Amino acid sequence: MSAQTTVSSGDRTTKTEIRFHNTMSGETEAFVPLTPGEVRSYTCGPTVYDFAHIGNFRTFVFQDVMRRYLKSKGFRVIQVMNLTDVDDRIIQKSAAAGVSIREYTDKYIQAFLDDRRALNLEPPEYIARATEHIDDMVKLIQRLTAKGFTYTSEGSTYYRIAKFPAYGKLSKIDVAGMQTGARVDMDRYDKDNARDFALWKAPKPGEHFWETPIGPGRPGWHIECAAMALMYLGDTLDIHSGGVDLTFPHHENEIAESEAATGKQFVRYWLHAEHLLVDHEKMSKSMGNFATLRELFSHGHKPSSIRFLLASVPYRRQLNFSPEGLQGAASSVERLRNFVLRLRTEKFPEGISPTMAERAATAKDEFDRGLADDLNTAQALAAIFDLVREANTAMDRGEFRQGDAAAVLEALETFDAIFAVLRDDDAEKLRSLGIEPASASLSDAEVETLVADRQAARKRRDFAESDRLRDKLAERGVILEDSRDGGVRWKRK
Ligand code: AMP
Ligand code: ZN
Repeated sequence: MSAQTTVSSGDRTTKTEIRFHNTMSGETEAFVPLTPGEVRSYTCGPTVYDFAHIGNFRTFVFQDVMRRYLKSKGFRVIQVMNLTDVDDRIIQKSAAAGVSIREYTDKYIQAFLDDRRALNLEPPEYIARATEHIDDMVKLIQRLTAKGFTYTSEGSTYYRIAKFPAYGKLSKIDVAGMQTGARVDMDRYDKDNARDFALWKAPKPGEHFWETPIGPGRPGWHIECAAMALMYLGDTLDIHSGGVDLTFPHHENEIAESEAATGKQFVRYWLHAEHLLVDHEKMSKSMGNFATLRELFSHGHKPSSIRFLLASVPYRRQLNFSPEGLQGAASSVERLRNFVLRLRTEKFPEGISPTMAERAATAKDEFDRGLADDLNTAQALAAIFDLVREANTAMDRGEFRQGDAAAVLEALETFDAIFAVLRDDDAEKLRSLGIEPASASLSDAEVETLVADRQAARKRRDFAESDRLRDKLAERGVILEDSRDGGVRWKRK
């Protein structure tokens, strides 16, 4: 399969070409994977020294939207995400807590995986822990040494950037005139400090280290990702993505490491998400302006609102995080859920209206066109909200027909394959994280869904389930009044 995918809608057939903005070329290009029909993608995962914040999740949600979209277009996606479970901060923090690196990071890895589930992030095909791939990193360093790209100093091994003429091609830094041999030991530094960087770090007294053929020590951050990407995905990947802060030095250094070793192009498309901001500053641990998912959940925000908010702003646009934005996202999700409920439960006049199926097909096309255009989620969403507004108006005017429901529902399902917010399971998700959902927070749509589920249970004479649902509603302050004709009304206590 190439970038050309066929979308048929009714009797029309349109071609959508998937286009992604590639940081390497600075252009939006047609997406053509190396192997037809298959996408090999690497995602820089979190450094697990603490809970991830929702800035991190902005990038992870973008990566999930991308994988879901590619899958919906028929591609087989092989995504690898690493977990950086050894770095300067992890070593310091685990030592301060008096526990092993493993014990320290296990807790945050579990929390991260739970948070991902709460946000409906699909699991990548491979999740790779850095500490389980030390051998691969050592072997990659040995390959680089054999080709003359490294040198050692005081037990550490460094990458000689002067030996790789293409250094700087991703982040567009100019290395001319840079002092050869100047070194940096830290994993994170800025462009003004572009230097030879540590591939392997000699242990400091009392620090955890690995005994290896290149000496005792631990890997630098950049070699972790390069080694795992090559090991799982081969010499050339289709997509490598992360937040914009990773462009330099992390991704620049990954290119230097992998391309020097293999002699081949490392990545065909580099995709970088813009930051989530708070009051126009990057959300980050070091700024102290961060919120974790759990904090937001315990303040009564729902997983679906957060996912919707993070997905709704196209990934290359900065997203300023605010309580109003979250509120707006919550109302959007509720509007969509209410609409689907209306579609499923209201009885419309029989027949088919002359335009609605066509209208739904157009919305699906526009939704697809938005996503094909470098994952323009805002444009894609506009197509769905236009459809919802028009269909609601048609319903209010009595112009919507029973026969239109399937086509409109199908458009909403296409939307939800990517956005994943329609299922009304926020309360269950919170409980699975040990958080009691804010009381009285059942929306009308949520109540209607539970009432409809209970009606369905009664109809099939599953009285245990029907009682359970009645109790569940009662717990949340909703009382049901069954009428003699089998109908039901509800009100809040
Ligand atoms: P880290 O754990 O710092 O390596 O970050 C994990 C991922 O989150 C990386 O792809 C970062 O680029 C991304 N990231 C960090 N802060 C933000 C932010 N404020 N907005 C968007 N992405 C971010
Ligand atoms: Zn990485």
